[in-house]
Amino acid sequence: LFLTFEGGDGSGKTTQARLAAQWLSDTYAHDALLTREPGGTELGQHIRQLLLHGDDMGPRAEALLYAADRSHHVHTVIRPALSLGRTVVCDRYFDSSIAYQGGGRTLTPKTIRDLSLWAVDGLIPDLTVLIDVPARVGAARREGEPDRLERAGDDFHDTTHATYRHLAEQEPERWVIVDGIGTIDEVAGRVRAALVDRLGA
Ligand code: C5P
Ligand code: MG
Repeated sequence: LFLTFEGGDGSGKTTQARLAAQWLSDTYAHDALLTREPGGTELGQHIRQLLLHGDDMGPRAEALLYAADRSHHVHTVIRPALSLGRTVVCDRYFDSSIAYQGGGRTLTPKTIRDLSLWAVDGLIPDLTVLIDVPARVGAARREGEPDRLERAGDDFHDTTHATYRHLAEQEPERWVIVDGIGTIDEVAGRVRAALVDRLGA
């Protein structure tokens, strides 16, 4: 089972991905591997630093760096785990790129989707959970210094959010939209209910 978590900055998807992986392991003895993008491998850690703290780069270079991170991650971590029968829970996957590099920036969602599918050799998640929070709520939740991408304007984050919603609505059999407003426990309860419903988990 390949499960991904998506959402804007400050949506709580990292926390929810961790809780879901724990819950799947505890309750169903799924041997769940929790991983994330960008930065799920050692090479990916370097790429993450470039993306978050490097100089401004053009949108194509940025898209290619995410694709390179993801390709290596799929090849060395995700596919090997799946082929051992493990469940993989990933904090962000190619839908992040479609929403951020394709929706928020100047490249089209289709370009990014095609690039991403090439990079991962066609590996599509079984289920993708969108932790749905309006961009401004996410922005208000963030702590600490914003990284290069978090400094992008409100319009960018609104477009990203709209693109996520659009993706989820277009492919309802793969996506589940979970309301991300509420306490961590409340949202985690909604995620568990969605997993039981969709996976018979
Ligand atoms: O979710 P995480 O904090 O790991 O994301 C790191 C940063 O990279 C965030 O600012 C996020 O908005 C950005 N990002 C992006 N495009 C992606 C994935 C993440 O701009 N495909
Ligand atoms: Mg973040």
